[in-house]
Amino acid sequence: MKITLSVIKADIGGFVGHSSVYKDVVNKVQEVAEDGKDKGIIRDLSVLICGDDIALVMTHTKGVDSSEVHELAWNAFKEGTEVAAKLKMYGAGQDLLADAFSGNVRGMGPGVAEMEFVERKSEPVVVFFADKTSPSAWNLPLYEIFADPMNTAGLVIDPSMHDGFIFEVMDVYSGMYISLRTPEELYDLLVFIGATSRYVVRAVYRKSDGEIAASASTQKLSLMAGRYVGKDDPVLIIRSQAGFPAIGEILEPFARPWLVEGWMRGSHTGPLMPVSFKDAKPTRFDGPPRVIAAGYQITDGYLIGPSDLFDDPAFEIARKDCGLLANFLRRQGIFEPHRLPPEEMEYTTLPKVLEKLKDRFKLVDEKKAFIK
Ligand SMILES: [Mg+2]
Repeated sequence: MKITLSVIKADIGGFVGHSSVYKDVVNKVQEVAEDGKDKGIIRDLSVLICGDDIALVMTHTKGVDSSEVHELAWNAFKEGTEVAAKLKMYGAGQDLLADAFSGNVRGMGPGVAEMEFVERKSEPVVVFFADKTSPSAWNLPLYEIFADPMNTAGLVIDPSMHDGFIFEVMDVYSGMYISLRTPEELYDLLVFIGATSRYVVRAVYRKSDGEIAASASTQKLSLMAGRYVGKDDPVLIIRSQAGFPAIGEILEPFARPWLVEGWMRGSHTGPLMPVSFKDAKPTRFDGPPRVIAAGYQITDGYLIGPSDLFDDPAFEIARKDCGLLANFLRRQGIFEPHRLPPEEMEYTTLPKVLEKLKDRFKLVDEKKAFIK
């Protein structure tokens, strides 16, 4: 049986500020999406929260980019927005960039990660969901999970993974993508995905049979809206076990922090902190950026779960290291590299400040400067 797993997420209003979401808003989104179950649009539903974002994890048999499923998610977020607006939640409806639904939520604001596959004898999947960062946050862990044998023992040991994987990498500025095969094109892959402000991994396939292994949301909200409307907090789906990396190999890159774009006003560099569902509430300097991992067994198209995978003391050291890195970076204040470089600030509120000062610049006359 072919099953589609669709994860569609949006920030439709924060409680308080950008830190979390209010229960009435979540309940409305869930109620509308549940209705889609009764109508036969989707088979099952699970709602996840990370910071000020809500994600709908849905299973169905309508394939990737189904307008029916996308419309259901759109309507759920639209009705949730009405509740958020009434309660004057912060930035109500900020990710919904269009007035009316037009066939597909891609390009309309919400983030989307989807994949279609034939359900295996056992189908474990992990849905990662991050707040206060951007889709390129997944570049480093995806490289380690699918291309680094020092992280993923299965690349060496398991004959069904030994051929390697194919990475689809997108240039978020041009919208073009390139497919690169690992291990043979590993260094070419790293040329691109190491440049996290421009290139993002959108999908990973098993090389031996082309089976989908991972799918990420690649929306860059700032470029879609042409103005700053919040960081495009991303989602990522990864299939696990039996020809794919084990759950522990998928989680291992998160056992120590690395730096990502996002944090306060989407304008800073900060460590990505792996947390349990209950700790997915970024408050310190609106961060540091958070990530949760929700594990599911998909059984006859139903979602058994979620299992809160970072709710494990083994990730305590990573969280502590994030705190130390946060202290270190905060000492840098408004100075780069804690603050992002000018090209990344282009879609924030900073250009408005620059506009006011632009006429005050004078050409440097070196001679005069020396005489004085
Ligand atoms: Mg957010």
